[in-house]
Amino acid sequence: MIGSRLLRASLILAPVLMLPVAGIVFVIRKYNEPIPEYKPSENRLVVVCVFDQLRGDYLARFAPLFGDDGFERMKAHGVSYGNAMLPYAGTTTSAGHASLSTGAVPAVHGIVDNQWYDRLLGKPVYAASGDRMYERVPRGPGGGRGNDGGGLSPERLLVPTIGDALMKNKKNRVFSLALKDRSSVLLGGRTPTGAYWYDPSRGDFHTSSYYREQLPGWVEQFNAGGSKDRWLGGEWTHLRDANLYERFSGPDDAPGEAGGRTFPHRLPGGDQREDYYAALEATPFGNELLWELGKSCLESERLGTRDGVDLLFLGFSANDPIGHAYGPNSHEVLDATLRADRLVAEMIAHLNTVVGPGRFTLIVVADHGVCDLPETEREPKTDGMRFDPIAEYGGLADVLDEKFGKIDGRAGRWIERMDFPWITLNAAAIEAANLPREIVEETAAQWAANRPAVAEAAYTRTQLAGATQQDPMLRAVRQSFHPERSGDVYLLPKAHALPLGKASVGTTHGSPYPYDRHVALLAYGNDVPNLGEHKAAVNALIFGPMLCRVLGIARTPDLSEPLPDSWKQDANAP
Ligand SMILES: [Zn+2]
Repeated sequence: MIGSRLLRASLILAPVLMLPVAGIVFVIRKYNEPIPEYKPSENRLVVVCVFDQLRGDYLARFAPLFGDDGFERMKAHGVSYGNAMLPYAGTTTSAGHASLSTGAVPAVHGIVDNQWYDRLLGKPVYAASGDRMYERVPRGPGGGRGNDGGGLSPERLLVPTIGDALMKNKKNRVFSLALKDRSSVLLGGRTPTGAYWYDPSRGDFHTSSYYREQLPGWVEQFNAGGSKDRWLGGEWTHLRDANLYERFSGPDDAPGEAGGRTFPHRLPGGDQREDYYAALEATPFGNELLWELGKSCLESERLGTRDGVDLLFLGFSANDPIGHAYGPNSHEVLDATLRADRLVAEMIAHLNTVVGPGRFTLIVVADHGVCDLPETEREPKTDGMRFDPIAEYGGLADVLDEKFGKIDGRAGRWIERMDFPWITLNAAAIEAANLPREIVEETAAQWAANRPAVAEAAYTRTQLAGATQQDPMLRAVRQSFHPERSGDVYLLPKAHALPLGKASVGTTHGSPYPYDRHVALLAYGNDVPNLGEHKAAVNALIFGPMLCRVLGIARTPDLSEPLPDSWKQDANAP
């Protein structure tokens, strides 16, 4: 009871407080805490490519089909982690990008999901927008995928990013370019030199008035150029011989895939511009367009060639919608991965030309993995399935009414909100009824954990705040739990159970299971020790200290992981 009262108080109190709850201390951070000073370094450029949904196993599984100059070059001359696992449960795009940019877990940086229910506001909020409204730049309709329209900002990030630490020195610059708005915003942090993202209704790249009032000339010129229309009316076909795809990923036409299930995939043409721009970002051509923008940025801003350190984030988002639609064992995902490999080879060649060997570092990473389609699982087969979260868990409202009585005669009022995988209880009603909140949580969790068809477990807020967390799943959920932004009961379905509806197609991610936590992680170039392939499991958030290291900055305060020992032995510490 004391714990629950303190938690409620925490929703109202000032942003900085230490909150003891059942033996554990939550530190709710104010954003503007001190950032370590940056020590001037030699010229260099660090390019970070985040391939959205590039699951860690693809790089080994498809390796025989890769060229020599892309992923394989990075593996042979740099370091690759074949078993890099995100440490937290909520494996969504926003949580992933914010964890990469800060090196912290969602419990610390606060980006617990793409959107979450804000108890104080009584509505869902979008991860890449703040309470303050900003405008799309250039002004005009369209472009906003968030529920706040075009005026996006990184204001919900609770801690500084590694890029923010870099920007403490005025000579340094950070650019963040992505197809998805949330990728660009959350990678860019609070103080980037520029953050630009794709408008799927127009094919243009834009920003918001949080960052600046006008697009720089090079982005305007890029938008006015013909790059975005290069694939109008075109076809996405197999990059290589179709028989190879059959061997690695089975038949092209597979049950459970969404949309037109087979190659070629035709893009809209003629006057169907809007449909074309929307479709483009769900093909590998969207990634190619982003790389074209990246080249414009490199050239116009002379990245890596001036006095100072430049950090360029490239958010290759196209792999994600492709994976959602067709699943990991499809020709489409294999093709998108082969094209990503070709893109990486092109990037290395280009950077060698415009920046020069020994003057840049390239890191490839992903924000999360994905679950196989139940219909096309590879060996070993599991009992993959599809389910409707409302059908499975919606009966909880009646259960609580039956146990604790209806509030004011109205059904279902003990639950304020149900956003799978979280249930938010009606805290005011529980307090008014003088019920210990733990009892209501516990009743809800016990019922939810015993839904025979899909449930594996359910965790309560009290458990998540508790001191003993031996259960690895509970520990992973704890890393995604923020007292002001998470609900009261976390629903954990069985592995390979997709919460998309019984009659759904396609697949998703967001669970704490290994297939969603497994991400690609490779580094190559200046300051990267030649360590080759690492097969042992590592925390994927070693990305944070790696990035600090190659940028030449001290650790930022929120990094969840130390630099791997092998890096320390192999190279001189900054
Ligand atoms: Zn993603």
